[in-house]
Amino acid sequence: MTSTIDPFVPPDAGESASPRLADELARHIESWIMRHEWPVGTVLGTESELLTRFEVSRGVFRQAVSVLEQHGAARMRVGSHGGLVVIAPDPSGVRRSATMYLDHALVTATDLFSMRTLLELDCVSSLSKHLTADAAERLHAVLEDDRETETSDSVGAQSFHVLLAELTGNPAMKLFVEVLAGLTFERSHDLCARTPDTHGINLAHARILEAIEVGDEVSARRRMQRHLEAARAFHPDGTLM
Ligand SMILES: [Zn+2]
Repeated sequence: MTSTIDPFVPPDAGESASPRLADELARHIESWIMRHEWPVGTVLGTESELLTRFEVSRGVFRQAVSVLEQHGAARMRVGSHGGLVVIAPDPSGVRRSATMYLDHALVTATDLFSMRTLLELDCVSSLSKHLTADAAERLHAVLEDDRETETSDSVGAQSFHVLLAELTGNPAMKLFVEVLAGLTFERSHDLCARTPDTHGINLAHARILEAIEVGDEVSARRRMQRHLEAARAFHPDGTLM
């Protein structure tokens, strides 16, 4: 499938340094992809077609392609149906970049847990109002697995929290909880001198699920809040966490 992409009009043609022009071109192509609701697999054109259409140098075009590939929006495909093709972004790459960014930005334990509390209390509220049998079964399976393997939040990548977020059906909730839980998990590695209370953590998860299952939103929120406060306390002040 081939599609015609809009011509590119640089904001200040002639004066832009090429990296900036490449960024602008990449953003122009990304905007087109978003407006067209991610037509994955669509070939936007061959390199020579797009050079003519966008009226940029080969160097600028290739830099723009590199930005698009880095953002997981499009890539060059070789072969008979080759060209610049729309791809689906890889969520694990997005999460990893966001986690690393926050780590580099020195997000504090207070910042991290205040955001987690905001998001995850909303998760339990939402699920307390509506939990399907299939969703309940998946949550029980995670709890069972954690119990059997004696895994907890600090060593198990926070699978209970991530699944709660996923089950809300809100992709933004899932992404942000995954990023924040992922960072909590990464930072836990620095706390190996302290042994996490795996049994207590798994019990807290079970009690949160119990409240969600009976539709007791108030208890579910209170239990999640206490659980996150306990997790926060595990990360001592004076360190990044
Ligand atoms: Zn937990």
